[in-house]
Order: sequence, then C-alpha cells, then structure tokens
Amino acid sequence: MIEGSAAPPPQQALVVRVDFGGCTLRGADGSSIEATARGRLMGRRKALGNKVVVGDLASLSAQGERVMIDEVAPRRNAFSRRAAGERAAEQVVAANIDQVLVVAAVRDPEFRPGFVDRVLAQTEHARIPARLVLNKCDLSDAREWRSLLEDYGRAGYSGLAVSARTGQSIDPLRDACRGLRSLLIGHSGVGKSTLLNALFPDLALREGAVNLKTGKGRHTTTAAVLLFPEPNLELIDTPGVRTFGLWGVGAEDLEQAYPEFRPHLGQCRFADCKHSREPGCALLAARDAGAIPARRMESFLKLREELRAEAGAHGGRIREPDSRI
Ligand code: GDP
Ligand code: ZN
Repeated sequence: MIEGSAAPPPQQALVVRVDFGGCTLRGADGSSIEATARGRLMGRRKALGNKVVVGDLASLSAQGERVMIDEVAPRRNAFSRRAAGERAAEQVVAANIDQVLVVAAVRDPEFRPGFVDRVLAQTEHARIPARLVLNKCDLSDAREWRSLLEDYGRAGYSGLAVSARTGQSIDPLRDACRGLRSLLIGHSGVGKSTLLNALFPDLALREGAVNLKTGKGRHTTTAAVLLFPEPNLELIDTPGVRTFGLWGVGAEDLEQAYPEFRPHLGQCRFADCKHSREPGCALLAARDAGAIPARRMESFLKLREELRAEAGAHGGRIREPDSRI
C-alpha cells in the first residue's frame, strides 16, 4: 500500500528490498510501496527466492488494500553467487546493474586476490563492468596500492585508491557512481560501511534503522538493498561476506573470465594446455613478459583447483538450477 494514500499503485516500480513477507519498491515519483508477490512468484518455503530481486522492475496491481507484484520485466543482467550452504544453489543478488564496485582493503585485512578475483570473474560471466575500490590506503605505502591498481588496470579494471578514514579520493569515488546503478560488494572488515558513511554522511539517518550487517531493525532475508543517497545516485549495498562462491562458471571456462588472458587463449603449443607448467604455454609467457599480472595467474590456478574439487564433491552437478524456485 502507498503510505497515507488510497490511490492505485503505479503500474511499474523498482524493487529496492526483499523481505520474508514481501518487497519494498520505489515508484518513479520516489514513493515507497510495500507489495506482496503473487503465489507463482513465491518458492515452496514462501520465500521469494530468485524470481523477484533488488533491481527488478515489477508490474503492480491493487487487490483490495494490498499491492501485488504480478510479474517482473526481463532482466538485462543479473549478478549471482553460489548460495551459502552445502547444496549447490544459485542466489541472485541483484539485477539490472550498471557496474560492480569491488571493495577491498590494502591492509588490515591484507589484500588477497582470492575474493576480488572471484567477484570479478562473476562480473565477467554476468557481463557487468567492474571496478576495484582499494580502501584503507592510509595504512599502506603508496607503492603497494599503486602496484595493485596497476595490475588490475592491466587486467582491464580501472580502480581507485581511497581512505574512508582520511577522505582520500572519496569525491572521485562518488563521481564514479553518478548515473550508474552501482553494486558494492566486499569481504567483511574491508571498511565498506565506513566508506558508505564517508560518501554519504546522512544516509544512515535517512534509511532508518536498517542495518545490513545484522539485519537489525527489520526481519529481512535480503541479500542486497538499493539505496538512493542523492539524486542521480543509486547504490546497491550488500552485506559483508567471508566467502564468495562463483555461480555458473566452471573450472573449464574460468580462463574466459580473466579478460587479460583472452588475447593469449588458443596460442599455447598444446591444444589441451592447462597453463600450469607446460612448455610453450602462451599464458605463462605473457605472465613472464608482464602482460598478465603474476598474482592474477596465481589466483586463477588456485581458483580453478577449487572449482574442480567442488564439481567433484557435487558429482559435477554444480550448475543445477535452484529447485526451490
Ligand atoms: P565492513 O565490514 O566492510 O563494513 O567494515 P567496517 O566499515 O565495519 O570497517 C572495519 C574496520 O576498518 C573498522 O574498525 C573501521 O574503522 C576500519 N576502517 C574502515 N575504513 C578505513 C580506512 O580507510 N582506514 C583505516 N585505517 N581504517 C578503516
Ligand atoms: Zn597454456
């Protein structure tokens, strides 16, 4: 229902959060609408699953006092991850995104490419542009963060070195978000919440008691929340996580998800080259020549091993569709 109004709901609105009971949407005029999804959009556990996610454009209709979500428009993209838990299942985090900002810390916790490279591989799979945001630059030597930005630049990702503490490059980061619906994701502890506060000091107040970290203030299942900190700015915040599981990318196609590898693929001496220690490997040669950053090559080999092990543990059915929806 539209608060304080008996007017019919708009025909379409944007999903900004998903809870157990229903969704919050935003109309074109900025109004906030609470709605319930039609039964066929609901999963067996009466949870919304992946059929209605943050960033979806939903068609609405009135049913008595309630506003119903009849359907969602086809998505132009979707950012997924492997859902937490033993069973291999997809979790669609959000849809219709213009860019993903991967937030990492240079120090405390120490930068490790594992998490960042998984998220970047997922953005490649989803064909969503991505950038690296390196936080806590106040804790590191400039050489350290410059070398990281350089490596990721060579991989095809522009980056920004910032400090939520000192305010370094907070304005350029805000500018990089303007006009683009941006999804923020980071390992917990990298300072993403502090960064959001530095970017938009009055955001917490305006968003009310919603705390993504704890879900405090509201009973929520949401994996993401779409925020509107100022006009022409849309941010999708996601809870800080400890792991990021790839979805839809297997050990065999992982090499396609590293953009800087692409010019060299198919150039190895052996057609079935595994790029680990084979003679005549074009990827290893590119690494030695500096065209492929060593830490990216290393993280690729490690991640591919993990994907192989996972596929083995799940009888190779790692990419089965989510049967809950
Ligand atoms: P989140 O889990 O990513 O949301 O991380 P938090 O925002 O809770 O920050 C984790 C810790 O890092 C807190 O103690 C912050 O004060 C600290 N922190 C965040 N940003 C910076 C930064 O730019 N520099 C320094 N030195 N510490 C930061
Ligand atoms: Zn090779």
